[in-house]
Amino acid sequence: MIRFDHVVKRFGDHVVLDELSFRVGRGEFVSLIGPSGSGKTTILRLLMTLERVDGGTIHVGGQCLSHRLKDGGLVPADERHLRAARKRIGMVFQHFNLFPNMNVRQNIVEAPLRVLGLSKEEADARAAQLLQLVGLADKMDAHPARLSGGQQQRVAIARALAMRPQVLLLDEVTSALDPELVAEVLAVLKEIAASTDITILCVTHEMEFARHVSDRVLMFDHGRILEDAPPEKLFTAPTQERTRTFLKAVL
Ligand code: ADP
Repeated sequence: MIRFDHVVKRFGDHVVLDELSFRVGRGEFVSLIGPSGSGKTTILRLLMTLERVDGGTIHVGGQCLSHRLKDGGLVPADERHLRAARKRIGMVFQHFNLFPNMNVRQNIVEAPLRVLGLSKEEADARAAQLLQLVGLADKMDAHPARLSGGQQQRVAIARALAMRPQVLLLDEVTSALDPELVAEVLAVLKEIAASTDITILCVTHEMEFARHVSDRVLMFDHGRILEDAPPEKLFTAPTQERTRTFLKAVL
């Protein structure tokens, strides 16, 4: 579902990703861990086409993000191509960014109505179903300011899923939350991972969560993958000294 081939990303002279290659299969839950500045968020931003690669290619669901076919050759993707690619990818950020002037239902139906062209009935039905999934069926008419941080983040997750993305990107979705609200958000994500075939790429500092929900964990350092292993192996028997010192520091 996701394929990075020799991806290079630079900011000025700073090479953030250096010939990075990896694959994520359909329905897999893959966590990205590693020290701050190792390039994890950049990977999500490239997938959201918020950044462009300087080399290599990224494919999502078999379609190239950075280039398109034209007259038998490859040319850089135009805005139309990027918009179409973006539709298949949902993202949830550290800060939930709900529309403050809209209630929960309106937050969720906005994009399906406007971007997917769903009817009001279809969009409302989808919102009701998703709010059930994230445990907020009774908050349909509430405004974001009346919700806890954990509830707002669960609405943000429902909003991302309302677009029926093939891929869901999670960027430190619990790090802005008070500790007692983290568990409810992680429980919802666990439920989504178990009950859908959506492909999830999750940047997280929550090692216990990564350990329990991931199919694979990728350990990053300096824009490279140091280890790519099932969680039980990576957390109990890492092969790299750098992984051991990182885990010791965060666990
Ligand atoms: P992580 O998510 O692992 O903390 P990031 O992907 O956010 O790492 O950042 C990787 C590196 O890229 C860092 O050194 C960061 O300073 C740099 N970087 C990220 N975005 C930009 C940008 N827009 N301009 C310049 N440097 C950036």
